[in-house]
Amino acid sequence: MSAPLRLHLDGKALVQNWQWLRAQGSARCGAAVKANGYGLGAAEVVQRLAKAGCRDFFVATWAEAAEIEGLMPEGASLSVLHGVRPEDMAQALTSRARPVLNSMPQVARWRATGRPCDVMVDTGMNRLGLSSTDDLSGLAIQTLMSHLASADEDVDQTAQQLQAFQVLASRHPGVSLSLSNSAGICLGPDYHFDLTRPGLALYGGVPRREAAGQIQRVVRIEAQILQRRRIQAGDSVGYNATFRASEPKELAILNLGYADGYVRGFSGKGSAENGLFPVLGRVSMDLTAIDVTAQPDIAEGDWVQMDFDLPAASAQSGLSQYELLTLLGSRFERIWS
Ligand SMILES: *Cc1c(COP(=O)(O)O)cnc(C)c1O
Repeated sequence: MSAPLRLHLDGKALVQNWQWLRAQGSARCGAAVKANGYGLGAAEVVQRLAKAGCRDFFVATWAEAAEIEGLMPEGASLSVLHGVRPEDMAQALTSRARPVLNSMPQVARWRATGRPCDVMVDTGMNRLGLSSTDDLSGLAIQTLMSHLASADEDVDQTAQQLQAFQVLASRHPGVSLSLSNSAGICLGPDYHFDLTRPGLALYGGVPRREAAGQIQRVVRIEAQILQRRRIQAGDSVGYNATFRASEPKELAILNLGYADGYVRGFSGKGSAENGLFPVLGRVSMDLTAIDVTAQPDIAEGDWVQMDFDLPAASAQSGLSQYELLTLLGSRFERIWS
């Protein structure tokens, strides 16, 4: 079936982003592929990164692990960040993935199995994780990790977390250590330890200024024109008539809307073809109007590329780069090159 909207996914850029992240230090570089590879497609992402040499993958849940477990190359590891609930035990015991234990009930549950695990220790984010004083004895810990709360900003919290992690590490000699997400990697090798866990930057997100100009765009949105129409001075466009024309204009109505992840924050702000065609009025669920007055020959059935450079699109829409990626819907035809 042919879809009237496409997501072009650049496999070479994905791999080059991973290679750039890896080259920031000497640690092993893994990949966070949770949330279906941040909306791009976990299976496609895993296959490409595995081929490039990535051997450490991270998902959020056991359902996500089951989706990609069969694609793991020899010697690869797959970690389930949310740990293991009683309901997960049956699957976890037959899976080659291992849980990242986050709480004492999880520790007790897993200790009894004698199987390998990772451990997340909270160093100040107060999200998931054990406390640094919890008893980790009797666990076969592969990787000891913590997670940075604010590495995408310049704040004291990040160095404090680093220090807390160093103290923790000194109490677990010989265990593999992992602290940094994409933004943490940009802070330099002090933050890398043995293994890094980038997500966002793999997919073209720019977590910090150090990565600007280095991280390549992976995702391109193309939408087909369903109708071209002319409006007169005084006419309005879309729901609630938020745009009103002061002169005659030519519009193209695109097969793209907020149900596809082209969010309402782009209403009156987004654009296509490098700013040539501004979005007019509100983005609807399935449709968006652009001003194509500048291009007399563009017609019904033609395709346009939306301006979706992640940092700029984030500033425009008021959503984070993470949200813009993970909201990308299922109606796109995903085309990998
Ligand atoms: C999502 C996640 C990552 C990846 O973070 P990015 O900011 O996308 O690089 C790393 N570690 C943990 C624990 C995560 O939840």
